[in-house]
Amino acid sequence: MGSTGSIGVQTLDIVRDNPDKFEITALTANSNWRQLAEQAIEFDADCVIIGDERYYDDLTEAIGDRPIKVFAGKESLCSAAASAEVDTVVNALVGYAGLHPTMAAIEAGKRIALANKETLVVAGETVMREADRRGVTILPIDSEHSAILQCLRGECSPVRRLIVTCSGGALRDLPREALDYVTPEQALRHPQWSMGAKITIDSATLVNKGFEVIEAHWLFGIEADRISVLIHPQSVVHSMVEFEDGGIKAQLGSPDMHLPISYALMYPHRAPHAAERLSFADNPTLTFAEVDREKYPALDIAYDCLRRGGTAACTMNGANEEAVAAFLTHRCRYHDIVGAIRYALANAAFIDKPSLADYDAANDEARALARRYLKL
Ligand code: NAD
Ligand code: MG
Repeated sequence: MGSTGSIGVQTLDIVRDNPDKFEITALTANSNWRQLAEQAIEFDADCVIIGDERYYDDLTEAIGDRPIKVFAGKESLCSAAASAEVDTVVNALVGYAGLHPTMAAIEAGKRIALANKETLVVAGETVMREADRRGVTILPIDSEHSAILQCLRGECSPVRRLIVTCSGGALRDLPREALDYVTPEQALRHPQWSMGAKITIDSATLVNKGFEVIEAHWLFGIEADRISVLIHPQSVVHSMVEFEDGGIKAQLGSPDMHLPISYALMYPHRAPHAAERLSFADNPTLTFAEVDREKYPALDIAYDCLRRGGTAACTMNGANEEAVAAFLTHRCRYHDIVGAIRYALANAAFIDKPSLADYDAANDEARALARRYLKL
């Protein structure tokens, strides 16, 4: 799901390299019907789904008389995730739109390779409870969580601390005062990773790192106080786990998403072909530093949301999605992103034990509050 995006395209690279291991059943995109049709033809998919129904006719025409079924709309995304021919769902959608397809995959008992961290940020409690109940495995694609999973393999003693590393994003080297005037173009220039626009902005604000703390909590069952964030500009150490005896395990590699994607797809095995190899000679210095919590207030807001539970993180996510979309189109300033999040959290209803419908309502309310704050 989301095969035309950054993670989606790299997932298909792995499928292309391992034709004996994978068969593509369904591919989905939101609006890029041209690329979706090309992918479906190359990988001989059984069906394609376009999220935005306006492109159904274009997609149908591009597929022509090949035996590939064409569907459109949100409901079709969920049906594809649950279809009988599917063993594994790769959820590489961006934002809240990923939640319902994840839930559909869980209900249908599919193994899930999860890039869409928003699924766990907004509704981690419900998602993990349902996955547990149905014996569904959720394997993280996010590089930090993949690293933690790799560090935890073979361990049976309690964990003292998860250390989530953080490149610092595109604005790492700018002083706090300069952030007032940051443009989307500046914030989109990530020093280490080439990713979709939304997550690149989230990396610049550290909203992404806050979300990863929440994601780590739900995936590994570790409380907020035992998850720390460490700036590591080289993005070679992808994250670490500290044990009670003082031992720390780290997973290292080049900043290349092919590794965590292939690990999630082939777990507990590893891919026979390498992601880009890491040369220590080319990376002789690895450095670490604490996060400047005043420069990056979003990180502590995310910790607060995790501690509050309920719909708090869902509200943060909804306001962030709305504000990031506005920032990317020059309709608000950089600082307005955190401003909108704070405003939404201060004014939204809070539900302690939300249902799925409550999450939908909290997401809508957060977006509306963010729009009001941003005067959109
Ligand atoms: P992207 O914007 O490059 O791609 C998103 C994909 O989802 C596209 O195929 C798009 O068509 C589809 N999509 C978007 N909105 C949709 C909607 N409303 N309905 C249906 N389809 C929709 O994003 P990305 O960078 O690949 O990120 C995907 C997810 O993976 C995000 O949750 C992100 O946080 C996470 N992630 C990405 C990276 C990375 O390196 N790109 C790393 C870690 C985690
Ligand atoms: Mg990450």
